[in-house]
Amino acid sequence: MTIGVVGLGAAGLRTAMLLEKLGVDVKLFEARGRPGGRLHCVDEGGGAIYEAGGEWIDSDHFRVLNLLKEFGMEPTTPGDWPRKLVYRGKECTEATIWSDALEDDLRVEAAAREMCRDLTNPPWSNTHASEFDDRRLIDFIREHTQSERGLWWVNSKYRSDEGDDLENIGLLGWLCGFLHYLDRDGDVMSAYRIPGGSRQLCEKILASLKTEPQFQRTLLRVQQDPGGVKLIFEDGEEWVDHVILTLPPTALERVVFEPALTPQRRCAIEACRMSRAIKICWEFKEPWWQNEGWGGSMMCDGPLQQTWDSSVGSAPILTAYICGDEACRWLALGDPVRAGLYELSRIFPECSQYFERGWVHNWLTDPYSPGAFSHMAPGYVLEHMKHISPPEGRIHFAGEHTALWTGFIEGALESAERVVEEFTKR
Ligand SMILES: Cc1cc2nc3c(=O)[nH]c(=O)nc-3n(C[C@H](O)[C@H](O)[C@H](O)COP(=O)(O)OP(=O)(O)OC[C@H]3O[C@@H](n4cnc5c(N)ncnc54)[C@H](O)[C@@H]3O)c2cc1C
Repeated sequence: MTIGVVGLGAAGLRTAMLLEKLGVDVKLFEARGRPGGRLHCVDEGGGAIYEAGGEWIDSDHFRVLNLLKEFGMEPTTPGDWPRKLVYRGKECTEATIWSDALEDDLRVEAAAREMCRDLTNPPWSNTHASEFDDRRLIDFIREHTQSERGLWWVNSKYRSDEGDDLENIGLLGWLCGFLHYLDRDGDVMSAYRIPGGSRQLCEKILASLKTEPQFQRTLLRVQQDPGGVKLIFEDGEEWVDHVILTLPPTALERVVFEPALTPQRRCAIEACRMSRAIKICWEFKEPWWQNEGWGGSMMCDGPLQQTWDSSVGSAPILTAYICGDEACRWLALGDPVRAGLYELSRIFPECSQYFERGWVHNWLTDPYSPGAFSHMAPGYVLEHMKHISPPEGRIHFAGEHTALWTGFIEGALESAERVVEEFTKR
């Protein structure tokens, strides 16, 4: 039996590893000229190395941590600098957060915990909670915050996690994600990074595979018949017994299936929304933020939204991570790097003198992942979510959008385990 794996992001790479361990023959295809997909560690030369895509690992993302361990990689920690919060020209740190913002944060968390008591995973099993599915996360947060500053803080925190404005996020999907956090001990968000950058991990996975992947092979059509699956790429055809498609939903939408996928699946793929998140990265001559006793991590109420020190190599790099409508506004500018530096200098006037060069990473129009990562829009969970992952004949589906850890690298790995189990349990 030969299984084709299309898409060599985290889900496809892990799927290939697991199938080869079972002794299965695989054929591996990827549209880009590199592995990793939305794991994209960029080396601009001169020590300027940073993650343009997935970057942070929470301390309970055990699949990612175990994978690193398997390759003898020790995750790095960001250092013990408190995050700066800037609101209406006033500053504090996350450790000394304004009491009104803290109270609102705790109020939202307590309400979410209470609502989670009647919820279970998978999310679509919560048919009794349809009123949550129809609600928007922003309305829930507005209801449970009392100060403007608290609303800004809680909104910023969860927008960063979801990668889009909370007007676009359904409450039930978000609460089912929150279920993961109920047993968390302390603050485990964004606890680690991949040592040396995600490229090193992808290269190590590739080196561990027996099968040579085929890059620059863009899948256009999938023809399934009782004897097997024909994969039609831009540059030729391949036959496999089964195929695992790990393409993001917005890329999957463009593939033609013969016979057509079920209407439920088609609707689930089209209704699965991708977040609008971009990164603006600036290289500086010196890590000026460290000279001031600050780690570079900030949340602000201005258009930059959020920054952190993202240096993977020797050059100091600060990244702004911007989500939602604001991301689209930045992309409409002629020179987001310079405009962003100007915004940064309004908070930190000294930064301009250290500036070297910068880059923007626009995932919204990426040809193979239009959008940063998936989120659950209002109404998605109960109407569509259960239709996105089950196999359809010889065609199987993986990728972060098919997982319970939706949106995360952890979810991509989770989906790899689930899709491989579909074969072992047959
Ligand atoms: C800006 C940004 C920040 C993020 N931050 C974090 C973070 O801090 N922590 C975290 O856990 N996650 C984060 N993520 C999300 C994380 O990167 C993804 O969830 C994960 O990498 C997705 O892996 P995947 O294998 O499911 O999909 P992908 O990595 O997208 O892999 C799918 C592959 O399919 C290929 N493909 C697409 N179309 C075709 C075609 N027609 N033919 C052949 N191949 C095709 C693509 O090129 C790609 O390589 C972030 C993502 C972005 C973009």
